[in-house]
Amino acid sequence: MHEDKGTCKGACKEYKVRKPRDGTSRYSSGQVRCQICGVFMSRESCHDREGRPATDETVDLYCKCCNCMVRSRPRNKPGTKHNKKTPQEEYNELRKKY
Ligand SMILES: [Zn+2]
Ligand SMILES: [Zn+2]
Repeated sequence: MHEDKGTCKGACKEYKVRKPRDGTSRYSSGQVRCQICGVFMSRESCHDREGRPATDETVDLYCKCCNCMVRSRPRNKPGTKHNKKTPQEEYNELRKKY
């Protein structure tokens, strides 16, 4: 039965979290956004694809309330830049090898 999928049942109110006081972004403090319920919640309030409790390693998070996938990061995730090399950097690294 998937009847209740995509419907807010109000259970999310229990998981709802406030905006971090120190001004850091919600996503970077581990909060996720359920667009169906319209609330931010902690990722511990979600389950993974198999319905198991979410951990730090869980990539796909689902809202326990509406069973829909939640967003765990902003569209343009800040902070990933330093992991990605620019073409110039890769070129430089290749050159070092020879
Ligand atoms: Zn809800
Ligand atoms: Zn939800």
